Amino acid sequence: MRNFFYKITGALSRFMYGRNGTDQLNLALLVFYIAICIPRAVTLALTNSALVRSIWDLLLLAMAVVIFFRMFSRNLPKRQAENQRFLAWWYPIKNQIAGVKQRRLDREHKYFTCKNCKTICRVPAGKGKIEITCPKCGNKIIGKS
Ligand SMILES: [Zn+2]
Repeated sequence: MRNFFYKITGALSRFMYGRNGTDQLNLALLVFYIAICIPRAVTLALTNSALVRSIWDLLLLAMAVVIFFRMFSRNLPKRQAENQRFLAWWYPIKNQIAGVKQRRLDREHKYFTCKNCKTICRVPAGKGKIEITCPKCGNKIIGKS
């Protein structure tokens, strides 16, 4: 059994050698693929239409084709460039989400977004009504902390 397992993993890694495999873009596509199943189930429960079903299934099929194509692709420079483009788009969004989460957990400070330059200014909480000067552009923000 152990031997069999080694044979399978060996064959698989030989097959995947020189191929793109799973990168962040493929993982994101997979998550999106799974997430699509929710609106698909909802719309199918509401309409029960064959047309709606085939549109969803076509979309899922197209996504599966893209995922498998990217996974087994031997054109690594092109796949890596796609992945980099995806990361350049995704990382700022990811950081923003992480920032919002962190600011929500922070009870010691209040956060104000400058209307002029969108800089986020942090002040200690519980000081009442205050005037904040944006450190970046000098714009005045009046708020309650
Ligand atoms: Zn500003």
